[in-house]
Formats: sequence, C-alpha cells, structure tokens
Amino acid sequence: MRNQIKIRTTWAGGWISNLLAVLLLLMPVNAHAQQHDRSVAFTIDDLPAVRSRDLEFMRTITDRLLSGLKTAQIPAIGFVNEVKLHVPGELTERSALLRAWLDSGFTLGNHTYGHLWFYETPLDVFKQDVIKGEKVTGTLLAGKGLPLRYFRHPRLNTGPDQERRALFEAFLQEREYTIAPVTIDNDEYVYALAYYNAWRDKETELMNRIGSDYVSYMSDIFGFYETFSRRIIGREPAQTLLIHANLLNADYLPHLVRMLRDRGYQFVSLDEALEDPAYSLPDTYTGRTGFSWLHRWAISMGKDHESQPGVPEWITKIAWP
Ligand SMILES: [Zn+2]
Repeated sequence: MRNQIKIRTTWAGGWISNLLAVLLLLMPVNAHAQQHDRSVAFTIDDLPAVRSRDLEFMRTITDRLLSGLKTAQIPAIGFVNEVKLHVPGELTERSALLRAWLDSGFTLGNHTYGHLWFYETPLDVFKQDVIKGEKVTGTLLAGKGLPLRYFRHPRLNTGPDQERRALFEAFLQEREYTIAPVTIDNDEYVYALAYYNAWRDKETELMNRIGSDYVSYMSDIFGFYETFSRRIIGREPAQTLLIHANLLNADYLPHLVRMLRDRGYQFVSLDEALEDPAYSLPDTYTGRTGFSWLHRWAISMGKDHESQPGVPEWITKIAWP
C-alpha cells in the first residue's frame, strides 16, 4: 500500500514537474510581454461604417463592434463622416447608430463631413467640410454633456505644405479641437475589402482564412511599430491604433484583442494615450503620404524610416479581383 502511494506520488511529481517545465517554457514569453507594460488606444474611423449604402448592414457592423468593445472593456473613440447619414428618409436611423456609440460609453470625433483629402483640397473647402461634419456629432455629444474634441485627418494627410498645415491647425485650435494622431498605422482596409468580397460571395471558408491572416498581419504590424518606436524614441509610447468600422473588425475584434493581450497590451482612452510626452515631439512633415506619427517623428529627427509590413498578394487579389 505504502509503495503504491509512493509510486503514485512519484508519478504525480513527474507529471507536475513536466507541467512546470512546459509552463517555464511558455512563461518567459508572457512575462516578457507583461514587463513592457504596453498600452494602446483604439481609434475607429469612417463611422457609422465604411460601406454605407445599406442601413441594415451598417447596423450589423455597429452592433457587433460595440458589443466586442464593451466585452473587452476598450475605451474607444469613433471618427465620423456625416455624409453617410444623409440618405433620404434615413437620417434619424443613421444618426441613431452614432448615438449607440455614446450610449455604450464611447466617444466620437470629427473625420470631416465627406472624407476629403487635404492634399488636394483648397484650405477653405477643407475647413468648411470640418464645420459641416460637426452638426449631428456635436449635437449628440452635447446631449451627453460632452465636447466634440477630437479631429482625425482623412488619409492621415495633415497638409500639402507648412503654410496650409499651420493655417489649418490654427483653425482647429480656434474650434477647440485636438488632433488625433496615429502611431500604429496599417493596411487593414485591404483585408477588410477582401473579407467583404468573400462575405458577399458567401465564401465562409475564405472569410475564415482572411480573418485569421488579418490577425497575424496585425501582430506583425504591432511588432514592427514596437521595434520602430524603440529605435526612434528609445521606448514604446502609449500607442494609438487606427482601424475602421467594417465587417472584418466587427467579426474579428475579439481575436484582435486576444492577440494584443498576449503581446502585453492594456487598453487606454485616447485622452490617456495622449498624456504620453512622445506626442509633443516635433512633427515637421507635410506632403502627400499619410505617415504614422512614428514616421513623422523619425523624419523630423532626420532618422531613417522603413515601411510597415505589407499585405500579402493573395489578399490584394481578393480585394481587387
Ligand atoms: Zn477615414
């Protein structure tokens, strides 16, 4: 009997030490990630949804995105293009999609009315488009006692030259806007288009393949910008992530969140992220390209900068067949 117990104990001991060995193998990865104390703010562009022709489709995206964000307790901000609200007879219901963001505890910002590209838009027209884009969003926010505080440049274009950039920023300041920067830029919209095409063609298996490749692509993007951050500013700032209100993110947000948690991220609001002193580094870049702020800081410091990881060709081919 005694022997039996001993054997059992030994077996159990062996099993436990095997388990410990496995855990030890796994732990350094996690412990390493946690040590970084990484944080990221979610900013979601092109609200109510990227593809805005069908109200029901927009409602599906809004519901899924909001439920994913709430479940993961992510304090997100959504950037609105009010042009998408103005479909005859649907203004109330389309505006209700935006109200749902506020009712769920999230906030909204201005992304211009019609998603104009500053680079080729006269300054006055661009300014008017900002004002035109405040109407519904500003009213909804005011109803909650909140200010319309953040502005996100379409295509991240901050101006064709220094003069127009400075004039526009003075205008934003007058209207009490804070510019919403992006450090984690990416080409998620290409995946989203491929995913949409697969959804339209009812290709479920293909949708799954695109979705899981999307999550690993975003993991590579974060890896790239983490390394790039350390090279440019010597550490990883509180990051600001740009994604869009599309079906891909509506479906894959929980997977994206899991990937980020595994990399050691916690989720902060844009307000909190911008408290990071990195965001007051000089940014002297103007021009055609909508660079991430990390690229802008690198350019302003005269440091080399490299391109973020690209989208694989098989995804591009599905996006634009
Ligand atoms: Zn946009």
